[in-house]
Amino acid sequence: MGTSPLDDTRFVGHRRKLIEEIQAKGIDDLETLQYFDVVPRHIFIPEVLWPRAYEDAPLPIGFGQTASQPSLQAYYLQLLSPGRDEKVLEIGTGSGYLTALLALAADRVYSIERLSELSQRARKVLDSLSANNVALLVGDGTIGWKKFAPFDVIVVSAASPSIPSALVDQLDEGGRMLIPVGSRESQELVQIKKTGFVVTEEVVKGAVTFVPLLGRFAWQSEGV
Ligand code: SAH
Repeated sequence: MGTSPLDDTRFVGHRRKLIEEIQAKGIDDLETLQYFDVVPRHIFIPEVLWPRAYEDAPLPIGFGQTASQPSLQAYYLQLLSPGRDEKVLEIGTGSGYLTALLALAADRVYSIERLSELSQRARKVLDSLSANNVALLVGDGTIGWKKFAPFDVIVVSAASPSIPSALVDQLDEGGRMLIPVGSRESQELVQIKKTGFVVTEEVVKGAVTFVPLLGRFAWQSEGV
């Protein structure tokens, strides 16, 4: 019999503390908070950082990338509120932690990452959690994933200079999307909603900092 990371009780107390911190930052949706109780964050980050795994902080995951701050991911989940029968597209798999949280909430999660090493690592961790409603792709998320479009929810976890139109096109009616838009140094979180033929954009949070979205319809180079 294999042991699942879900049976590992060592970090249960740490998770409870993280949930309290997330709650203190204004997240009160019980379902959202419960996802953080179920998914072990430490297995998504390098082992040397395990002592810090349940801090409400972004953490380095290699290749110059970071696992986002948990309370910010909770904010995404609460606002977008993916339904059990809904399809989610995630741009920037990174560690795969948000992917796992989304997989608990939604019917299917399609996640794109440009760095194959990170995608492969995320695949292993997600498999160890038996998250079998997740499809991963190595590629440029700024063009979306046409094959499985349209999506009810689109989550962009990297900062963009503008809203890639392919992503808005791949949003279903009644669909919601969140994307950090701005400069390389600082962005605002923009929520896009599609109701019938009408697309609305609203800034829902200011002054956030994400790693850059690098691709055809975002920034083309790592440099500043
Ligand atoms: N939610 C993730 C965030 C990772 S950081 C986590 O918490 O771990 C954002 C990720 O977006 C990085 O891994 C980066 O490599 C990836 N990324 C940047 N540009 C991309 C693009 N055009 N397509 C797909 N992934 C991209």
